[in-house]
Amino acid sequence: MQIAIDGPAGSGKTSVARALARRFGCLLINTGAMYRAVALGLSRGLKLSEIQIEIRPNERVLLNGEDVTEKLYTQEMDELASQTAAHPDVREFLIAQQRALAQNRDVVMEGRDIGSVVLPNADVKLYLDASLEERARRRCQERPGLPYAEVLAQMRARDARDGQGFGRLQITPDTIVLHTDGRTLNDVIAEAIRAVEAALQRRSSSGKLSG
Ligand code: C5P
Repeated sequence: MQIAIDGPAGSGKTSVARALARRFGCLLINTGAMYRAVALGLSRGLKLSEIQIEIRPNERVLLNGEDVTEKLYTQEMDELASQTAAHPDVREFLIAQQRALAQNRDVVMEGRDIGSVVLPNADVKLYLDASLEERARRRCQERPGLPYAEVLAQMRARDARDGQGFGRLQITPDTIVLHTDGRTLNDVIAEAIRAVEAALQRRSSSGKLSG
């Protein structure tokens, strides 16, 4: 079974993906973490061909064997990852790995282009959305101490870049969109679980379960 979750920064993708992976016994693959780790590697002077990324089942991210998880979630890395992800060779490098990870395995994969590009035949495609203001507020809660206005401005710029090309932030006709403004995480997770269960029922009755 393949579950694809896409959406902009701060839409709650990671929390929902984590809950779905646990509920349905799938491997969780956070593709944003892969772009972040590649950005870190390139910033250290490594060539793309010298970079090896591993995402552990416990969500730790290894860059050439070093656990870099704590280094990946800063304002600087948000920016650097977003810039790095706009390079076609980086995308080609990571998309091939993402597809390989999902082969013959039950996965929940989250990112920006999963349902549109990486796993176009996923059994269930979800797109999480929320207003820019709400997403910036959530980010401020996750990373206390950052001024709201700064987070808002950076997120606006990142949205614009992340939506430029490569099929990112594209909602395909078979995608279920969940609006999360003003809702609790538990409420959104419950809806996501219902959506997956309904889609799986439809798919299994038509005999089309992938993976
Ligand atoms: O999801 P997260 O915010 O950790 O992703 C970091 C950056 O990686 C995003 O801002 C985006 O530029 C890029 N990304 C992407 N395609 C994906 C996942 C992330 O371009 N599938």
